[in-house]
Amino acid sequence: MVKKAQGTKGLVIVYTGGGKGKTTAALGIALRAAGYKKKALIVQFIKGSWETGEINSLRRLSPEIELVRIGKGFVGIIDDKKSFSDHVKAAQEALKVAEKAVVSKKYSVVILDEINYAVKGKLISVQDVLSLIKSKNPRLHLVLTGNFASQKVIEKADLVTEMKEIKHPFSKGIKAQRGIDY
Ligand code: ATP
Ligand code: MG
Repeated sequence: MVKKAQGTKGLVIVYTGGGKGKTTAALGIALRAAGYKKKALIVQFIKGSWETGEINSLRRLSPEIELVRIGKGFVGIIDDKKSFSDHVKAAQEALKVAEKAVVSKKYSVVILDEINYAVKGKLISVQDVLSLIKSKNPRLHLVLTGNFASQKVIEKADLVTEMKEIKHPFSKGIKAQRGIDY
């Protein structure tokens, strides 16, 4: 008898665009997978220094969901006290974690959160991302988030959703809300 799992086609999924919801959509996939005891790894490429609600929740979903945070905060924005080379080093470290994870048979889902920003900011190259996609275990679902996804990455993806901002409270001067934005 053919097992259902043998039919698994690992998808390359990209959440990009300027509207809110890219990271939370990716987390939704991890949540769904964990419900079937499938393992998900989330690697945060850019965020990394402050607390978010999801970090606390994901701890409770261990061991199905693993979270690796290496990034050093938004490059050039808000609390950025690190040099550009520190950011490059952190992103390269995250890339190494990702390279190992995508070839391993351990995970059903690997989420590379904010990796598109890391490419846009030249912390890693688009070629690095294309190599990840090429080398990945064929049954692994690979999720890439962040605005400004490279056209080359979009071409290789199976599913691409562009979050389009219709309204965001930020433009009315409403500050980020705990439990909604972080
Ligand atoms: P979320 O993590 O809420 O799913 P995101 O992943 O789509 O958002 P990012 O580009 O990673 O968004 O930005 C991270 C932070 O910026 C979040 O706190 C988010 O609420 C906020 N943000 C997202 N989109 C916008 C926007 N259009 N205007 C202002 N702030 C935004
Ligand atoms: Mg995000």
